[in-house]
Amino acid sequence: MGSKAVLLDLDGVVYVDNKPIEGALQTIEFVEKNKIPYRFLSNTTRKSRETIKENLEKMGIRVSKNMIFTPAYAAASFLKQKQIETAHLLLTGDSWKDFAAEGITHHDEADCLVVGDAGDEFTYSRLVGAFRLILRGALFIALERDRYWMGRDGLLLSAGPFVKALEYAAGPESILIGKPSKEFFMLAISDIGLSPGDCIMMGDDIETDIKGALSAGMEAILVRTGKFSAEKLEMSAIKPTAVIDSIEALTHLL
Ligand SMILES: [Mg+2]
Repeated sequence: MGSKAVLLDLDGVVYVDNKPIEGALQTIEFVEKNKIPYRFLSNTTRKSRETIKENLEKMGIRVSKNMIFTPAYAAASFLKQKQIETAHLLLTGDSWKDFAAEGITHHDEADCLVVGDAGDEFTYSRLVGAFRLILRGALFIALERDRYWMGRDGLLLSAGPFVKALEYAAGPESILIGKPSKEFFMLAISDIGLSPGDCIMMGDDIETDIKGALSAGMEAILVRTGKFSAEKLEMSAIKPTAVIDSIEALTHLL
C-alpha cells in the first residue's frame, strides 16, 4: 500500500482480554525492525497509559508510554490547554492518573464533565449527578461513544449508550475526544510527523476505527479479530481499504 506509518488499535487487534492475539508480537517486532513508525491508538478509557504500558510489557511488548494514545490523555491535554483544572470524572479504573499528570483533579461540582467507559460506576445516582451538571452548563466531554466492546465473557456496553442517554435527557451534544474524532487521529499522526495520507489505521471496529480513519484521510484496515462481525461489515456502507484475518497479515501489506 506504500504507507509509511501505522496506527494500531489495541483491544481486539493486539490483544483480547489481556492475551496477545496470535502473531501480534511478531508483527510489532517486524514493524520495529523495519523502522516503520507506529503508534497505538486505543479507545480504552479504563486504564492509564502507564497501566497499558505495563500490560503490554507482560505480554512481551516493550514500548514507551509516549507511544500510547488514549482518549483520557487527549482529553487531559485538551483541558490543560483550556486551563481547566477540575473536572467531574465519570470513569473507572486508573485513567484518572492521566488527568492528574496534567494537573486536573476530580471535583463533584466541577464546570466540566468527563464521561468514559465507567463500567459499574454508571449507577443511577452518578448518571443523575452527571445529568444535573450538564443542565447547569458544564462542558460535556465524551472520551468515546463506542457502543460495545469484547470482554472476557462476551460483548459489554461501552460509554456510548450512557453518553447518548445523557445527551437525550439533558439536550446538548457531548464533545467527542477519542476515535472516531479526527483530532484524536491527528494527535498521533502529528506525533509521528507525517500526514494522514501516509498512515494506515488498523482496527476491529468498523465505525470508530475504519470510518474514523477514512474520514481523517488515512487508509483503514479492518481485522477479523476482537469485536469484528462479518454481518456488520456486509450491512455497512463503510468500505475498509482492506479486511485481513488478523494483525499477523499486516506484514504482507507493508
Ligand atoms: Mg478495538
